Amino acid sequence: MRTLIRNAWVLTMDDQMHEYHPGYVLLNEDIIEAVGPEEGPTLLHIQDLIDTADTVIDANDALVVPGFVNTHTHIGMIPFRSLGDDMKDRLRKLLFPLEADMTEDLVRASAQYAMAEMLLAGITTFADMYYFEDAIAEEADQMGIRALLGETIIGQPTPDASDNTPYFGLKMAPAFIERWQGHVRIQPMIAPHAPNTNDRASLESVTKIAIKYNVPVMIHVSEMDYEMAEFKDKYNQTPIEYLDSIGFFEAKVIAAHGIHAKGQDFTILHDQGVGLAHCVVANTKAAKGVAPIKEMLAADVAVGLGTDGPSSGNRLDLFTQMRTFAYAQKTYNHDRSIFPATTIVNLATRGGAKVLSLDHKIGQLTPGYQADITMIERKSLNMNPIFDPYSAIVYSAEASNVEAVWVAGQQLVANKTLTRFSEETISQRLQAQMAPFNAKVAEILGQE
Ligand SMILES: [Zn+2]
Repeated sequence: MRTLIRNAWVLTMDDQMHEYHPGYVLLNEDIIEAVGPEEGPTLLHIQDLIDTADTVIDANDALVVPGFVNTHTHIGMIPFRSLGDDMKDRLRKLLFPLEADMTEDLVRASAQYAMAEMLLAGITTFADMYYFEDAIAEEADQMGIRALLGETIIGQPTPDASDNTPYFGLKMAPAFIERWQGHVRIQPMIAPHAPNTNDRASLESVTKIAIKYNVPVMIHVSEMDYEMAEFKDKYNQTPIEYLDSIGFFEAKVIAAHGIHAKGQDFTILHDQGVGLAHCVVANTKAAKGVAPIKEMLAADVAVGLGTDGPSSGNRLDLFTQMRTFAYAQKTYNHDRSIFPATTIVNLATRGGAKVLSLDHKIGQLTPGYQADITMIERKSLNMNPIFDPYSAIVYSAEASNVEAVWVAGQQLVANKTLTRFSEETISQRLQAQMAPFNAKVAEILGQE
C-alpha cells in the first residue's frame, strides 16, 4: 500500500534541512519510501509516482512536517484540567486527595481523550508517566499512536497499588515491561517520580531494572525550589549531581523539567547522555522559572518539548509549547534573535525524537524512517502569508490548523477529524466516568 502526499510544502527536518516546495512524500506501509521536489531534472517525475501510488493526497500547499514529539505528559490527568489553576498549594489541597480516588476506568477514558486531542494537534509520539499505566498502554495500542509509557514510582501508596504500599510502580515494572517490550509502537519505560520522592534504594532498583531490560527511565528533576534546597542541605549537591553520584545515569534517562539546573549539571547531562523534556508552559504557568535551555544546547544536551500533564500545562499540543518557548526564552535572554523558528521546530520534532532515543526512526522525513507525518493546512486566515514556514508553525499556527496525521503509515486524522474514533463518543466516555470525581471536587471546595 503506497500513499503519495503531493503538492505540499515539505519541511524534512533532515540533516541538511531540505525543504521541497512543491514537494511530495511517498509512504510505503509504515515507512517513508521517498521525499522530494515535484520538479527537477534528476528526480522521478511526479506523474510516475501518481500513476503507481494506491492513494494520492493533494496537500493543497499545506505544510508537511515530521509528527510532533511530546516528550513528557501525564495523560490520565484530563479530569484535573482548569481545576485550581491559580491556587497556591493546589498539589496538597486538590491533586493528592483527588488522585487517591482515581479509578482505572477514569484513567482509561482520560487517556483516550488525551490521545485524541494530541493526534488532532499533530502529535504522533508521546512519553507518559502515570498510574494504571498498563491500562493506558492498552488504550494507546487501540488508538494507533506511538508512545513511551512508564508507571510512576513514588514513596507513597498510589491509587492502583493493590497492596496499598509505597513503591507499587517498582513492583509492577518487570511484568509491565515484559508485556509491552517488542510492541511496534509502544515502548515501556520505568518512571520514578522524582529524586526527592523516591529513596536511594528505590532509585538504585530502577537503574538495575532499566539496565536489565534495556528500557529508558523518565524522572522529574530539578523542578522544585524545595527539591534543590533539600539536596543542598542533605548532600551539598544538586539533584543532578546526586543522581550522577549514585550511578542513576548508567541507564538511559529522560529528565523532565531541569528548570534549576546549573553549573556542573549541564556537563553531567551531556556526558551521561541524559535527554531533557522541557515543559515551558507548565513551568512558567506555575511560576517555577524559565529553564536554562541556552546553556543546555551550548553543552550539547538533547532537548525536546513536552506539554506536561493537562493540569500543569492545560493544552496538549506543541504549538502552544513552541510559541511560549519563544516568548519566554527571548524575553529571558533579552535577545529576539536567539532560538530562531527553525531551532524551535527542530526541538518539537527531531529534538524530541533524540530525547526519547527514537532519532534513528522518527523525527524527520527521510527515506527509511517511520511514516509519522503531520500536515498543517494554510487555507485558514491565521496561516497567511507565509514568508518563512518555520516561523508560521511557531507563531501563526494553532492545533486547529492540523489537517491530517499519519502514525506508522496509518492515517489517524483526515480533514481535521479522527479516522477511527468518534470525538463525541470519546468525550461522552470521559463525562460518564467523571461523576464521582466531580462530587469530590465539590466536597473539597465546599470545605474551603
Ligand atoms: Zn510531569
